[in-house]
Amino acid sequence: MRANRSGPTWPLRAIPSRPSRRAAHLPRPRPPRAATPASSPSRRDSSLSTAPLARGRDRGEPVLVDSNQWDVIVIGGGSAGLSAALQLGRAGRRVLVIDAGEPRNRFAEHMHGVLGSDGLSPLEYLERGREEIRHYGVALHRGSVTTAAEEGQLLRVETAAGEAFLGRRVIAASGCRDGVADVPGMGDRWGRDVLHCPYCHGWEFRGARLGVLASSSASIHQALLVRQWSESLVFFNAEAGDLPVDVSTRLQARGVIVESRPPSRLVVSEDRLTGVELHGGDVIPVDALFTTPLLKSNEEYLDGLALEREESKLGGFLRTDKAGRTSNPKVWAVGNVARPAETVPMVLAAGSAAGAAVNMDLIEEEFEAALGG
Ligand SMILES: Cc1cc2nc3c(=O)[nH]c(=O)nc-3n(C[C@H](O)[C@H](O)[C@H](O)COP(=O)(O)OP(=O)(O)OC[C@H]3O[C@@H](n4cnc5c(N)ncnc54)[C@H](O)[C@@H]3O)c2cc1C
Repeated sequence: MRANRSGPTWPLRAIPSRPSRRAAHLPRPRPPRAATPASSPSRRDSSLSTAPLARGRDRGEPVLVDSNQWDVIVIGGGSAGLSAALQLGRAGRRVLVIDAGEPRNRFAEHMHGVLGSDGLSPLEYLERGREEIRHYGVALHRGSVTTAAEEGQLLRVETAAGEAFLGRRVIAASGCRDGVADVPGMGDRWGRDVLHCPYCHGWEFRGARLGVLASSSASIHQALLVRQWSESLVFFNAEAGDLPVDVSTRLQARGVIVESRPPSRLVVSEDRLTGVELHGGDVIPVDALFTTPLLKSNEEYLDGLALEREESKLGGFLRTDKAGRTSNPKVWAVGNVARPAETVPMVLAAGSAAGAAVNMDLIEEEFEAALGG
């Protein structure tokens, strides 16, 4: 199959979600701590519990869980969402984070390139983040949001469990999911020795036998990039199509081997990737394989809001301004849900900026209300 020029087109192979690690990731929902300065009314409110959870589904209609509205509902408790929640919690806002507990990098044992936390488990990192935001009274709730819709001046958020929450603003921070080539072994090795980001995991395989499995012509960039981490690199270019002569010349000039035969499966020995088997049976030895995944943002719950989108070389994603505000002025989108190429430090910054921007937006609304506007 030949890929088009703008991005990966192969069939999406769902990567297994590893439920056991998921279970380890998120604690059961519990009421936030009430530790708040008595002088701050919103702080007092922040001790609101999301419990008791109404069994709305059993009765058919979603049920409003808490009669008090939240200042901000953050959908997704990965790095972007927790970073936004930290800013908002420290601003004394009543914040609810609803998280399904499947951060995109949960497949990797170690997280890299995050200053101060380099090498930490991604799940432990998020647990630390949750501890930090709990300290400021932010409520954490496990759940999967199914819809977010306008209800009067507010936004109504519903979950798959039949709960409903009201918020003055929503921050979508629900990340994205990855699809890899339909080559047996790819999904199982994802995040271990099948990788997408050499900045995240290249050092651990520096000097090793590396491969880049093309998903489209965009993978040429990845082949040029990954060469930085090893002199031993094979570019499996079947999905990239015929390489332009200047590209072949550049790759060859730095010793990159171009392998045009399509792969049939990954070869694994003692729980390590050892090679890529090609149609015809030949095996090319590799210790790690880089590939550009097909990206799909977790944003289906926003469909009813008809938010504007924009095209990028990675696909179509929500359009936002620099602070993350979407075409709906009450809805922000930060992190991989809107910008899937961003790494953890980048989404931390984006979440922090969005948290501050949402707080300012609420402040302006409150001054307007005080003026009788
Ligand atoms: C295999 C792999 C390894 C990586 N390694 C690194 C690394 O070493 N260093 C680095 O900097 N970056 C790394 N990254 C990139 C990193 O994963 C992302 O930058 C980061 O996870 C983006 O954060 P996020 O908060 O936007 O999304 P996520 O971390 O994916 O968090 C989104 C959260 O929202 C939840 N969610 C989704 N839908 C809903 C819904 N409907 N309702 C409620 N919750 C929902 C998800 O379950 C998840 O918990 C890696 C990525 C991958 C795929």
